[in-house]
Amino acid sequence: MLEEIRQIQNPLVRSVTAASAAFAMATIVSGAAVGLVNPQDRAMVGVYASLIGSGCGAIAGVVSGKKGSKTEPITGGNLSQAPTQPRTEGKTWQDWRNFVVMRKVKESEEITSFYLQPEDRGVIPNFQPGQFLTIKLEIPGRPQPVIRTYSLSDYPEPCEYYRLSIKRELAPKGLEVPPGAASNFMHDQIQVGSIIPAKPPSGKFVLNVQQSNPVVLISNGVGITPMISMARACSRLNPQRQIWFLHGARDGQYHAFRDQVMAVAQQNANLHLHFAYSRPRPEDAGFYHSMGYVDTALVESLVSKDAEFFLCGSPPVFAIADGGA
Ligand SMILES: Cc1cc2nc3c(=O)[nH]c(=O)nc-3n(C[C@H](O)[C@H](O)[C@H](O)COP(=O)(O)OP(=O)(O)OC[C@H]3O[C@@H](n4cnc5c(N)ncnc54)[C@H](O)[C@@H]3O)c2cc1C
Repeated sequence: MLEEIRQIQNPLVRSVTAASAAFAMATIVSGAAVGLVNPQDRAMVGVYASLIGSGCGAIAGVVSGKKGSKTEPITGGNLSQAPTQPRTEGKTWQDWRNFVVMRKVKESEEITSFYLQPEDRGVIPNFQPGQFLTIKLEIPGRPQPVIRTYSLSDYPEPCEYYRLSIKRELAPKGLEVPPGAASNFMHDQIQVGSIIPAKPPSGKFVLNVQQSNPVVLISNGVGITPMISMARACSRLNPQRQIWFLHGARDGQYHAFRDQVMAVAQQNANLHLHFAYSRPRPEDAGFYHSMGYVDTALVESLVSKDAEFFLCGSPPVFAIADGGA
């Protein structure tokens, strides 16, 4: 029961609930004690015991809530967080909610991850693999906040943080234009402890993990972000399902999450990986499966057409859809 009371977010409600529970407990215990000891003023013993019990319960409610809502350090980014208990369905929120950057991790030459937890230390809602978060950045010199969407790139169990993995967008070659506003601000100015307002997870590009037909996750570059979430979710919740994870990168330096994806595959024999490097370096030998792009020919050589396909990335990947894979 203590655990259930701890889950209540509102301290007043938690305190009243704890007080009521303690009141009931104290009444039962004092009733039994009165029966055994038979004191002179039975009614007053019961009343005092119940009042003391509810007072203690109210204090315990506040204190246990503080413990229960404490933001735990993040240990995510691997599958070692085995599902020990069912996911707590956190209540979603309206409009913007402040998040604190708890960790900032370089994933590749151009992609950096940001682990976010709510500033209010409350529970955050679960999300569907493939969904994204909308964030708002106050960038100095800009009259308006910059609003951007980023895929949720992990599938933590329990859902204690959101992870965004952002590619630094450079100015296109040959154009005298500024580099990407939000992505460069995130890389250069956002640090551990920074506050970022975010809207609740959203989006319909989602994997229904419970289906039984094979699923093919095709990405290149930063398009890998929703695919990791999908691969993790499916491996955890429906490990019988065949998953093909096809990813294209320039070389090992630009290949984000290689070790994380390989770790998931090591725990799930039904997750099949294929990494294609377009310009591999000599030291990448042994870390990729083919040279070139993830294209229609490659997809057709690996998987059957009756699978469910998800594509995310830049033009070479979308050419697959045109090619009818
Ligand atoms: C559903 C969804 C999910 C996404 N998930 C991710 C994700 O997981 N990770 C990720 O990194 N991105 C993701 N994106 C992309 C992301 O939302 C941003 O679009 C991206 O980070 C670029 O934003 P920016 O502000 O850095 O660049 P912007 O300022 O929007 O600029 C974009 C590009 O345009 C160039 N540019 C600037 N001015 C001009 C001009 N005048 N003429 C021509 N070019 C110009 C910039 O140099 C830059 O290369 C996602 C997008 C969507 C819609």
